[in-house]
Amino acid sequence: MIRKARKLLFFVLTTGKCNLRCKYCGGSFPEERVPAMPTYELSLLKELIENDPEPIVAFYGGEPLIQAGVIRQVMDNIEAKFLIQTNGTLWDNLDWDYWRRMDAILLSIDGTEKTTDGYRGLGTYRKVTQAAKAFRKYGYEGDLIARMAVSERTDIYSDVLHLINLRLFDHVHWQLDVGWSDSWIDFDKWCSDSYEPGIDRLVQFWIEELRRGRVHGIVPFLGILKRLREGGCNPPCGAGVNAIAILPNGEIRACPIAYDAEWALLGKLGQTSYSEMRRKMLGCGIVGECKSCAYLRGCGGRCLYMNRERYWGEGGLKKICNVTKYTIDAISNVNNEAYAIMNDLGMGYEALDYPKFNNSTEIVP
Ligand code: SF4
Ligand code: SF4
Repeated sequence: MIRKARKLLFFVLTTGKCNLRCKYCGGSFPEERVPAMPTYELSLLKELIENDPEPIVAFYGGEPLIQAGVIRQVMDNIEAKFLIQTNGTLWDNLDWDYWRRMDAILLSIDGTEKTTDGYRGLGTYRKVTQAAKAFRKYGYEGDLIARMAVSERTDIYSDVLHLINLRLFDHVHWQLDVGWSDSWIDFDKWCSDSYEPGIDRLVQFWIEELRRGRVHGIVPFLGILKRLREGGCNPPCGAGVNAIAILPNGEIRACPIAYDAEWALLGKLGQTSYSEMRRKMLGCGIVGECKSCAYLRGCGGRCLYMNRERYWGEGGLKKICNVTKYTIDAISNVNNEAYAIMNDLGMGYEALDYPKFNNSTEIVP
């Protein structure tokens, strides 16, 4: 018998369309594979989600707010924890009544205005920070997360610090633009001259602030500390294990971006039973070298899609692993110190316990 999953994260792609054309992504999905709006009956989605006693629904796209009506319909008819990953530029498509019910809002912003607009187009930074300010003004009580995509023009130390200093976001998370993008000029040089020293400085900053009793919500640091402490899902985003995606055409997939990969297809709304989908999930996990890697506890295989697709080839994957190991080592080096500080300050470990549920931050950049 297949037991009901608890707290399965359902990515609901309201559309494959996006209103931006960011450098690392290029905009919308091909419409023939990821339609502009759901082509299935909402009752089928409800039926699937209600198999779970504590579901989490993440609105995703494309840009999910292009189909704000779908978000309203889902939130009006399905009981779940709700969150959204959005570029924030269309935030007024949804009324405050819906926003305040989101447990987490992940706003795409890459750091300073120069960095953000450099990747996402002029004026994007201004619109996203306006959205974040509006949520704060309305008294949003959920988790407001800055979600960065990190690529060659990013200075990880100053871009993360900039977002922290805005004092708008509860948490800052980033994901490296690696493995599929071919826009890098010199990835190795960026890692050795910019990213890795930046990670060291950021860890130093974080631990110094901890000594002053301030816990900054840097998601990769908190999340990797938690994995080192408790273990966690492989992959850390939960793709195919405790997270699935429903495309607008009703396809159920292990990962929201794997719209055309055979291994990621778990079924279709209205055609595949819940238990059949669960059975298929057993066959789509992390494969290969990750299983015997000494870093598996902290890393979790990083990204299922990359683990399976390997667009940068074996050599490219090794480079990504190296930078991942560097990051995990930097955090491991302050592991004991962080708990000792919390102890000395009498703060307990609660403030380091993040995320409390799969809120779609992938933990490992
Ligand atoms: S470091 Fe590389 S090989 Fe090791 S678990 Fe992570 S992704 Fe897999
Ligand atoms: S981290 Fe990788 S596997 Fe996980 S949801 Fe993102 S692209 Fe998919």
